[in-house]
Amino acid sequence: MKSIHTKLKLNNKQKTLMAQHAGYSRWCYNWGLSLWNAAYKDGYKPNVRKLREVFTNHTKPLIPWMKKLSSRVYQYAFIHLGEAFKRFFKGSSKYPKSKKKGRSDSFTIDNCGKPIELNGWSHKLPFIGTVKTYEPIEATTKKITISRQAGEWYLSCSYEFHFHTTPKKTDVVGVDLGVKTLATLSDGKVFDSVKSYQKFEAKLSRLQYLNRHKEAGSANWKKVQLKIAALHGKVANIRKDALHKLTTYLAKNHGTVVIEDLNVRGMLANHKLAKSIADQGFYEFRRQLAYKCKWYGSELVVVDRFFPSSKTCSDCGHVQDMPLNLRTYDCPECGLSIDRDLNASINLRKQVGNSEVSISCGKASPTECKTH
Ligand SMILES: [Zn+2]
Repeated sequence: MKSIHTKLKLNNKQKTLMAQHAGYSRWCYNWGLSLWNAAYKDGYKPNVRKLREVFTNHTKPLIPWMKKLSSRVYQYAFIHLGEAFKRFFKGSSKYPKSKKKGRSDSFTIDNCGKPIELNGWSHKLPFIGTVKTYEPIEATTKKITISRQAGEWYLSCSYEFHFHTTPKKTDVVGVDLGVKTLATLSDGKVFDSVKSYQKFEAKLSRLQYLNRHKEAGSANWKKVQLKIAALHGKVANIRKDALHKLTTYLAKNHGTVVIEDLNVRGMLANHKLAKSIADQGFYEFRRQLAYKCKWYGSELVVVDRFFPSSKTCSDCGHVQDMPLNLRTYDCPECGLSIDRDLNASINLRKQVGNSEVSISCGKASPTECKTH
């Protein structure tokens, strides 16, 4: 079993619907908990099944707004309450507390026994309708949980993993991750750097500056902290979105994707580069590429970081120093003049099948890999 936790792209109407369902779930959980406490005080031995019966037969019919929401929500609210008590009796957690609005906004629904299919970027959920996600997901699951964190809604579920292979346009592609550009592919395609968040970053540092003298914990301080958290989220999402587009494109359309095992630690020693590398999220790039290659049936090849992809002429193999400020590779041997990143990406593509260069696939440990 694998699990998914991903952000939902919702319109205002959908956000309201989610908040209503989370409110419904919280209401039932808290109602059940207080009835449990009251029954216990009166000398009864409460259980979740009895509470649910009281709710279904006597309470729910009296509250009209509940009819407009999915009835699966209250079923799961009671299941979760029962689980909380089970954990308490086992001694693995504290006595269940009532849920507070804004802190535990979540609800779980299922499809009345039928599977829920999640496929791609847009998903039809029972009762809720069609929702979009910021990354493509693939899963067949029995139930999903929708929750709110820092004002954003997320979908999570567990599922059994399955693969599906997409037709490939290109056999092998080399990818050079850059500083000036996000990525340059060996066929000449360029993915630009994400610049749009820089304006948010300026705003972010201004907010942090303004908040420095406010009393921590005061109402004003909290207000600004919330804004800061929201901006942080925005910046992270813009970055993540660009990476997802790139990694999906690579894994879907190419039989083999060749990347360089970047010496990130060495590069981080260079302060100017450091920020750029952190911004572009190289680790995240590799992580996404590894799982998406599995999804779409392509192979990820990681070339040893000692291979001089930038210094080698992709035409004749001549090797020369290439300081970072040189954007064009000019070869004195064969006369080739080519964009620095494109040259590197072509070199990476050429490494497939070269036994002199140590390559590994994207798998976590070398023992897992049977090919290399
Ligand atoms: Zn050359």
